[in-house]
Amino acid sequence: MGNWDFANRMAVIATMHRKEEAIAPILHQLGIQTRVPQAFNTDQFGTFTRDIKRPADQLQTAKLKIQQALELTGETLGIASEGSFGPHPFLPMLPLNRELVVLVDQESGLELVGEATSTETNFSHASITNLEQAWEFARKVGFPSHGLVVMPEPESSEHIYKGITDETELEELAGWMLARFGQIHLETDMRAMMNPTRMGAIAQATQDLVRKLQQHCPQCDYPGFDVVQRKPGLPCGLCGMPTELPVTAIYQCKQCQFTQAKPDPTSPDVADPAQCPYCNP
Ligand SMILES: [Zn+2]
Ligand SMILES: [Zn+2]
Repeated sequence: MGNWDFANRMAVIATMHRKEEAIAPILHQLGIQTRVPQAFNTDQFGTFTRDIKRPADQLQTAKLKIQQALELTGETLGIASEGSFGPHPFLPMLPLNRELVVLVDQESGLELVGEATSTETNFSHASITNLEQAWEFARKVGFPSHGLVVMPEPESSEHIYKGITDETELEELAGWMLARFGQIHLETDMRAMMNPTRMGAIAQATQDLVRKLQQHCPQCDYPGFDVVQRKPGLPCGLCGMPTELPVTAIYQCKQCQFTQAKPDPTSPDVADPAQCPYCNP
């Protein structure tokens, strides 16, 4: 049995985009201490503005960041977050933000992943040809509390200006670029410190990580005992017949594979009759 008390452990948060502002306060509630490595350049692991491509998928990228931060600091407990943005898989008109917050403990070998998905993101881009359109886009995406990236065209490799959060700067930059190129490509700056909405999603993913960290396997005590499957059968609130909505959650231990069926914590007591195949066929 491992020692799963993380109080007073030192966790390195592998970020240079001030993600510790979202992550650290939640870890501090568990008594975990935090630090951010000095001179840690996460841009080598890929950026959202496409000037550097990501070397691996979201989870692998987060693990690479942790590994490097632990090597730099000599610590053994590391945290990193990695976000992705794109069209919602079922509702392509909506943008979707998926945030992972990953924990790696080299002492115990534990790896846990907290996750949050949200359609509350300002993720957007537009190519525009006059200042009025630039201001319209800026207003729509929450500028200036949310930063912008400004460049001549979508695949620009130079004249990429990130972290624009000042109205005068945007006006001057857009004016200059329109005069020189005749158009501008604007993107939302998705780096955490430029995007309070994303900071909120990272905090949610950290809460999910902490929830998993505190759910231990009843058989071997390993953390991360969590739902792997949901089974339908939630009774209708009117006629009591089972519906297709989930009623049971299957929990499984990643370490010893012990499984347990419990009432689904995310289900209400009964189903809305509108979801019932008998009451509302
Ligand atoms: Zn177990
Ligand atoms: Zn019914």
